[in-house]
Amino acid sequence: MRGIAEKLAPPSLLVTRGAGSRREVAITFDDGPDPLLPEYLDVLDRFGARATFFLLGGACAKRRDGLLELVRRGHEPASHGYTHRRFPSLAAPALAYELDRTAALLPVPRTPRPLVRPPQGALSFAALARCARLGYTTVMWSLDSDDCRTEDPKVVMARTAPERVAPGEIILFHEGQRWTLEALPEILTGLTSAGYALVTVGELLAGGA
Ligand SMILES: [Zn+2]
Repeated sequence: MRGIAEKLAPPSLLVTRGAGSRREVAITFDDGPDPLLPEYLDVLDRFGARATFFLLGGACAKRRDGLLELVRRGHEPASHGYTHRRFPSLAAPALAYELDRTAALLPVPRTPRPLVRPPQGALSFAALARCARLGYTTVMWSLDSDDCRTEDPKVVMARTAPERVAPGEIILFHEGQRWTLEALPEILTGLTSAGYALVTVGELLAGGA
């Protein structure tokens, strides 16, 4: 489904990577804000990296401080739904409710359209069309760090080593995981040493064609 949707949907509605015309990659973190967020932010700061955080409305309601802090430090907040329910399983009003409740907690986006990443990357044509009608650009990823399938920081590092990365990549990570946090400094060292600027998804897309 994902492959077909990516071929058919215009980039304003569905994005998996940037154009790659500049040596930039977007680091993304799903499922926060989580109690480990301050430690993630400290690592990102050390490398001058900005990232996009696909946040759950329910977690934003509980950890408003985390949301405000990541915004204050120049990162991009975006939607990951309110309850992490899979979008294809939701009727149109339930999906709208997930997105509206979350949007009410997030700052006004700087991108032309607000960004949303569907929980577990679960997509259907109907869900994609509903997100588009509600004004969203759906953001997937082009490189999965696999950090939800391993607890070994070395595996996460290997998956995102510079030789596996190309300009324009959108890289998927998750919040709230010690092994991801442990892997981050080496990953960011590798990417910055390879000459990559670490930008938000909004900046990557604004970087142009
Ligand atoms: Zn998620």
